[in-house]
Amino acid sequence: MVDSPLSKGEAGVSLRGMLLVYPHLNFFSLSPYLCGLLWLALLVSYLCLGQTFLSQTRLPTPRIYEQIKSHQKGLAVWWVGNAGWLIKSDDILIATDLDLELEEKIYEPPISVEDLAKILNVVFVTHHHGDHCNAYTLKLLAQRSNCIFVLPQTCLDEEPGLSISQERLIVPQPLHPFDIRGIHVEPIHAIHGNQDFTVLTREKDFIKGIMQNCGYVFTIQGKKFLHPGDSVLTEEHLSLGHIDVLFVSPTVHNMFVDRSMILINQLEPEYIFPQHFDTYRQTPDNMFWTKGYPDELKLKLSKSLQNRYHKLSQGEMFVIQ
Ligand SMILES: [Zn+2]
Repeated sequence: MVDSPLSKGEAGVSLRGMLLVYPHLNFFSLSPYLCGLLWLALLVSYLCLGQTFLSQTRLPTPRIYEQIKSHQKGLAVWWVGNAGWLIKSDDILIATDLDLELEEKIYEPPISVEDLAKILNVVFVTHHHGDHCNAYTLKLLAQRSNCIFVLPQTCLDEEPGLSISQERLIVPQPLHPFDIRGIHVEPIHAIHGNQDFTVLTREKDFIKGIMQNCGYVFTIQGKKFLHPGDSVLTEEHLSLGHIDVLFVSPTVHNMFVDRSMILINQLEPEYIFPQHFDTYRQTPDNMFWTKGYPDELKLKLSKSLQNRYHKLSQGEMFVIQ
């Protein structure tokens, strides 16, 4: 009761009431009230400062810039939070769905945009939502790097101020493959889910999203990587055939545990990396997209698939053999 905003409000009213009823009260007779008020003010500022402190502190992650730079041979991946991955193939570095902004983050992203800008060759984005198409990150990359941007039309419509020149821009379309920096890219459909395991239809142009948003199959050094973006499970996913490396999102608004399991059992990838969890601070309203169930998913898999399942921490490097 003491800490509730209501009790603080009530204390203010009672002091005002005292002054109206007893205008002759002097400072000394008021002092217990002033004292109470002072304590209350202290308590409020303590609580406010505590909130600010909590929202500004982030857990540390390993700094990966030097490690990425020194990796010059073979294939390696680093998770940088949410659906963000850095994939290095010899000396070529590509990235997916980068959000390196600090806002709402539980962990400090393991690399700054400024550092990444020095070494990044291509960035792929799957769709227009801020946790995938992050304007802060993309704008800085446009200014500070020479990288190529692969951005679906929905991203360009949602973020018209990215200032990316035409020569650096590829607008992918599902089922229209292309090659870039020695990587074969097959964009596939991504159909965005939402709260309560539904398909997202509340955005007024959701049909455009279904037509233009992408998941990606990358062929790099002969290995096939699948990054589905944010999508419910589709027939297209299940008909992909052989996939070596799968990034999978066991959240309510993606494939959750059951459909992630169906996808994994169908594709039997050599490497399975869960994503879209433990990145943003959770609230009851955002849990459908901030909370993932990577441990629950692992428990549903066979022993041999469990051995191929790697829940990385942010900034952890993993070498693909
Ligand atoms: Zn997302």
